[in-house]
Amino acid sequence: MGICHKCRKKIGLMDSFDYSPDGKYRFHSVCYKKIYGDYNVKGSTIKGKKFEQEQKDFESAISKIVFTTGFTIENKKIIEYKGIVSSEIVLGVNIFKDIVADVSDIFGGRIKGYERELKKGKSLLIAKLGKEVLEAGGNAVLGINLNVGTVGIKSNSILLMMTGTAIVIK
Ligand SMILES: [Zn+2]
Repeated sequence: MGICHKCRKKIGLMDSFDYSPDGKYRFHSVCYKKIYGDYNVKGSTIKGKKFEQEQKDFESAISKIVFTTGFTIENKKIIEYKGIVSSEIVLGVNIFKDIVADVSDIFGGRIKGYERELKKGKSLLIAKLGKEVLEAGGNAVLGINLNVGTVGIKSNSILLMMTGTAIVIK
């Protein structure tokens, strides 16, 4: 998972991490906040023209990436393989602890909340995967696969992991 650019300590598999706005460096989320302030799914809430421009450029680069669960892209030629990329996030305890405790509510209103969180999680995973693709020098990702696992003794957090193969298409 690499080394945090601020504290220089290892970023573990289960650690939450973020990239610098230019996508070059990884930080523990805690360390990231110390430098860049709070952030959300769409990026840092830090103000500043330069940062906003970088963020825009980055978002536009990510929006141009082709994401597919398939292994070919219509009318495009694969020029180069850039290796396997992955992104992961842990959805918090508070979101999933009730699902086990009250299964009868699954088809009730509460499930909507979980669905919303999962969807949010999925977009974050895709954004993070996009960053990995850019870092690897690719412009598309093939064979996207979403894996779900549980974390912790009581298994009340879930780990979402997305993998794929970064490629260059033309
Ligand atoms: Zn750190």
